[in-house]
This record gives sequence, structure tokens and C-alpha cells, in this order.
Amino acid sequence: MGNKIFDKENLELLCCPVCKTSIKVNENKDFFKCLNESCNVSFPVYNNIPCILNEQNSIFSNEDFARENDTFFKLSENKILKTVKSAFPVLSLNVSTKVNYNSFAKNLLKDNIAGEKKKVLVLGGSVIGKGMSEILAKYPDSIEFVETDVSFGPRTMLICDGHNLPFKDASFDGIIVQAVLEHVLDPYACVSEIHRVIKMDGIVYAETPFMQQVHGRQFDFTRFTHLGHRRLFRHFEELESGAVCGPGMALAWSYKYFLISFSNNKSIRKVLDGFARITAFYLKYFDYFLTKKKGALDAASGYYFMGKKTGRTLTDKELINSYAGAF
Ligand SMILES: [Zn+2]
Repeated sequence: MGNKIFDKENLELLCCPVCKTSIKVNENKDFFKCLNESCNVSFPVYNNIPCILNEQNSIFSNEDFARENDTFFKLSENKILKTVKSAFPVLSLNVSTKVNYNSFAKNLLKDNIAGEKKKVLVLGGSVIGKGMSEILAKYPDSIEFVETDVSFGPRTMLICDGHNLPFKDASFDGIIVQAVLEHVLDPYACVSEIHRVIKMDGIVYAETPFMQQVHGRQFDFTRFTHLGHRRLFRHFEELESGAVCGPGMALAWSYKYFLISFSNNKSIRKVLDGFARITAFYLKYFDYFLTKKKGALDAASGYYFMGKKTGRTLTDKELINSYAGAF
């Protein structure tokens, strides 16, 4: 199947992540070139997937993708181990993601003219995000998804880094950034790029952890409180926000990480991980109840934010006055 990023209208959205000038693909579609002669960077295409990085400002380089080094999701894992692992119950539960995505689609398609297709950029979209499969399939005629990541995966259409997006200003009607902003070095820079490439009245949806231990090994840097997350998106007007994974999941993760801390031995840690999952998986179900409580805004595993680009910025005084936790 052809990569939709090579559709004419998508190619027109692309720009150089270094200088923001238009870029052009060659006839064989095996590389792109920046049209600004003083910049003149070229970008490779690997297996039909363009790799449009600003290498000067990214922890990833073209070489990582040429050699398929460990990038974010390509952290090599044994297949048998994966199967055994999947037989154990999980500790995580995104309580409201599905509902939130339905609401995202509703906001996006509000006042939609028949026949018009909305374009949604997915950052961190190499695999289908939790709770996302429904909206990916539900609106084939009215929403087109442009799925990007810093790793190859079944869904990757384009390799790009959130710190320097290779898209022209106001390219998208919506942007989804689920469980990504903890894994970038500078989340503020990434959200500023999101703000740049989204259209006026465009809808952004983010999920970012608060009470979660390190996951993704060397690619894990930041956590946000509910208000910290709100401030990250202060150039957007809030439509909705709240806990997406609750205090129950936070407790289950803490318990697991407490147990596995006892050993440096990989195999023992795996046994402890399995034990934690069998003995604490049920905690996540409390989150159906707990995420509705005010206290979840002080204690949740992760938060979501849905906002609209309106040109208005939330002041820090307004931010502080918006505290809605239980204290
Ligand atoms: Zn350039």
C-alpha cells in the first residue's frame, strides 16, 4: 500500500525542519531536498518512509533509522518473553481515553462541511495508541490521520521529531499527542511546534503521565501535575481536562517498582514484575470511581488535556485560580 504522505496535498504541507522552507521529493521518491539554497539539507527515505529530522537538534539521526538502531519503540524484545508477558494481567488502565477521543472527533467535526476532510497529525503514532483504534477507523470519509513517530512501526508514515516539525504553519485541523511529552527533552518546545502547525480553531488532545515511574528506558524525562500540564498548553483554550489514568494505577505502578527495586538481576526482576501484576492488577479498576473524585487531580497516574487554538493565552494568575484538586 502506498504511503499517504506522498499524496500531493500532504507533500504540500511538508517543510524543512531546519529553516521551514518548502522541501521537494526527487522523482524516485528516495530523498527530499530543502529548496532554500543556503540551507540545502537533504532528507532520506527508508522503505517508503521519509525521515525528515533536524539532526542538529534531535537525539535521533538519520543513521539510527538507516541501521534501524534502538529508537523509541525499537527497544529489542524477545518474542517468547513477550508472549509469556502478555498472559499476565496488566497494571495500567486508561479510564477515559475512548470517551475523550469521541469528544475530540465531535469537536473536530463541529461545523464540518459535507465532503470536507479534516487532517489530524498524530505524534508518537508508530503503533495505535491506547483507546485510539475506534476513532482511527470510524471516520474514513471525514478525518485523515497523518501518523508520525521517531520509530518505525506498523503505522509510521513519516519519521519526524516534535522539537522541529517538518510541517508548514497551520497545516492541521487537529493534533494528537498521547503518552509522548514525557519522552521528549523539551516538552515546551514541542507544544510550541504543535501550536505553530495547528490551524486557528484546531483541536489538540494530549495525555501525559504524572505519577509514573521510568518507562522507555533512556527516553523518559518529565512528568506533569494537572496544572503543570495546563500551563504547558497555556496558548490553547481548554475544552476539557482531567485524570485519564487514576490513583489506583499509580499505586499499582508504585508497588511494582517498589518490588522490582529489590534486585538488579534481570530474571528476578521479571519474576517480581509478574508477581506484582498478579497481586495488584485489580487496583486499576478503582480508577473508574476515583478519577471522578477531586483528589484524582492531585494523585492520578496521568492527565489529559483537550484544547482549541483561539489566539488567547491563559495567564499564570488564571492558572493558579483554576486549581480544582481536593486540598
Ligand atoms: Zn532548509
